[in-house]
Amino acid sequence: MDHFRNLTDLLTGTTRKDVALAPFTTFRIGGLAKIYVEPATAEDVIAIKQYVKQHHIPLFIIGNGSNVLISDEGFDGIVMNLETGFNSLACDEHIVTVGSGVRMATFVDFVIRNGFQGVEMLAGIPATIGGAIWMNAGCYGGETSDHLLDVTIIRDFSRVTLTKDECGFRYRHSGFQKDDVVLSARFMLDIGDPSALREIKLKHLKHRNDVQPVHLPNCGSVFKNPKPRFSAELIEQAGLKGTRIGGAQISPKHANFIVNIDHASASDIIALMNLARKQVFDEHHIVLEPEVQLIGFVNDPIVKLPN
Ligand SMILES: Cc1cc2nc3c(=O)[nH]c(=O)nc-3n(C[C@H](O)[C@H](O)[C@H](O)COP(=O)(O)OP(=O)(O)OC[C@H]3O[C@@H](n4cnc5c(N)ncnc54)[C@H](O)[C@@H]3O)c2cc1C
Repeated sequence: MDHFRNLTDLLTGTTRKDVALAPFTTFRIGGLAKIYVEPATAEDVIAIKQYVKQHHIPLFIIGNGSNVLISDEGFDGIVMNLETGFNSLACDEHIVTVGSGVRMATFVDFVIRNGFQGVEMLAGIPATIGGAIWMNAGCYGGETSDHLLDVTIIRDFSRVTLTKDECGFRYRHSGFQKDDVVLSARFMLDIGDPSALREIKLKHLKHRNDVQPVHLPNCGSVFKNPKPRFSAELIEQAGLKGTRIGGAQISPKHANFIVNIDHASASDIIALMNLARKQVFDEHHIVLEPEVQLIGFVNDPIVKLPN
């Protein structure tokens, strides 16, 4: 069956095949997507969900690819990107409505320009709004869900709007992580002073630049923090800062970041992750759990450690 042709006929958005995924990730790593779609409407999204269900095809939604490691073999299914079809931004009184494909930085600038506050600390998260809501991303004392009013999603094959309380938000988690597609969200914001908010935003961006290797391709924090400890501290204590395998390196600047310094493969990243996990386990009996999502791996490449 020619899924590519069928989807091209079915959708008003664009469909491509054998698309390199590396440019869609902040790691700049990953093989090809067998089929890559950019739905233009909610009806397109529903049609894609129905099609993959009917034909048992794996589906992955990619936002800005800032929390994913895609395998060197790529993704043997359909990758859906909402950045072109769902990129609207509108402000009506205290409510800002934003499409899931809008980048966080663009959203924050829009909010500040319109004289509202509450999301300025999030500007440096290199996410789309869809990915940030899915993950309830946060930093510097704020979380994406803080000022959310409601979120519109495709659940199963219907378009529904859920109030914030119905979204299941908690630390780095939302209730959308099964197989919902986030289409848009509404934020309810308080009035603020744009020049003061820009100052706060810049202060946080500067801090980020000082402590994170933001100028090299990476995926943010590789491991969750095993509270009360910090993964970066444990990896650093294991003497692994700066360790290199292939084209990947444990960042000399921040040990919970792995950077792609020279055409790293996904296997290079996995090798460093397994090395860090093993050393930290040997020294502290602590198991580091990946924060980055591993996509397109047929078998789990993370070596099991005793619990
Ligand atoms: C330099 C750097 C700094 C970072 N700093 C932070 C930080 O301070 N705080 C923080 O929380 N995170 C941080 N991150 C991690 C990352 O930005 C967040 O996890 C972010 O929420 C991922 O958003 P994304 O759009 O890139 O999603 P992706 O990485 O593309 O996808 C992540 C998950 O979201 C799902 N998804 C994406 N869009 C949708 C949608 N529309 N509907 C349904 N599911 C969707 C994907 O299927 C996937 O499962 C950082 C990453 C980097 C590279």
